[in-house]
Amino acid sequence: MRHQPHIPRKRFGQNFLQKQDIIDDILHVIGPQPDDLMVEIGPGLGALTTPLARALKQLHVIELDRDIVKTLHEKHDNGNVVIHEGDALKFNFASLGARLRIVGNLPYNISTPLLFYLTEYIAHVRDIHVMLQKEVVERMVAAPDTSAYGRLSVALQYRFEMEKVLDVGPDAFYPQPKVDSAVVRMLPRVKREPAATDEALFARIVTTAFSQRRKTLRNTLRNILELADFEVLNIDAGARAETLSVSDFVQIANWVTEQQKTF
Ligand code: SAM
Repeated sequence: MRHQPHIPRKRFGQNFLQKQDIIDDILHVIGPQPDDLMVEIGPGLGALTTPLARALKQLHVIELDRDIVKTLHEKHDNGNVVIHEGDALKFNFASLGARLRIVGNLPYNISTPLLFYLTEYIAHVRDIHVMLQKEVVERMVAAPDTSAYGRLSVALQYRFEMEKVLDVGPDAFYPQPKVDSAVVRMLPRVKREPAATDEALFARIVTTAFSQRRKTLRNTLRNILELADFEVLNIDAGARAETLSVSDFVQIANWVTEQQKTF
C-alpha cells in the first residue's frame, strides 16, 4: 500500500529533521546505550526514532498527531518502540520508571510549558536532550547581567545544569522554521545549593521580580520586602532582577519564609 506523504501541520509545531549529518550530530550528543530508559517526545516521521530504536533495547515515544501515530504503528509494531498516543504536556513520565533519558526535537509552540512540566518529574530524570529555538536555549543558559537572563534562566538553572551542545540552522528541517535552533543538555542538579524551603514561593518571587524587568527590586518586590530586609539580605534595592543570581533569589525566598511574611 502506498502512503500519501504527510503534510506538516503547523499547529503541532511540525518541522521534520531531514539533514543526515545533523541527525548524526544529535545522536552523538545523546549517546544512547542499549539499556537506557529513553523516551522521545514528538517522534514525527522518525528522523531520530529509527536510529535511536536501533541503538536501544527499547524506546518509548509520545506523539499527539493521530495520523503520525498510525504510521508509527505500521512501522514499529512488533518492534522495540512503545508508542504512547497523547499530549506530552499531560503524560505521566513517572509511569515509565526512574533514571529516564528524555529526548526530542520539540514542537516549538509548546517548548516553554513543556520544560516547566518536565521539571515536575525531575526526580525520575537522568538527563534531557532537546532541540528548541536557539533564542530559548540562550535564555535557559544565560548568566546574570545579560539581556537573555530571566525567569526561565533562574527557574531552570535552580534545578538543572544546562549546556547548549549544538547549533542547528533552519535548512536542517522540512519545512524550514523562521528561527535558528539549538540542542540543550539538561542534567538535574544532584544537590541544590542553597535549596529553597518553599519552592512555590521561590517561583512566585522570581516571576514577580521579572514581571517588569526594567523596574528596580524595591518596586517589583515592594509587597514582600522592606528596605530593612534588603539590607539584611545584602541586596541592592535599587538594582534590577537581572542582576540577581539564582542563590540571591533563593536567599530572598528563604528569608520571606523565615519571617513568615505572606505573599
Ligand atoms: N522528531 C521529529 C523530527 O525531528 O523530525 C519531529 C519533530 S517536530 C518539531 C515535533 C513533533 O512533536 C511532531 O511530530 C508533532 O506532531 C509532535 N507534537 C506536537 N505537539 C505535541 C504534544 N503536545 N505532545 C506530543 N507530541 C507533540
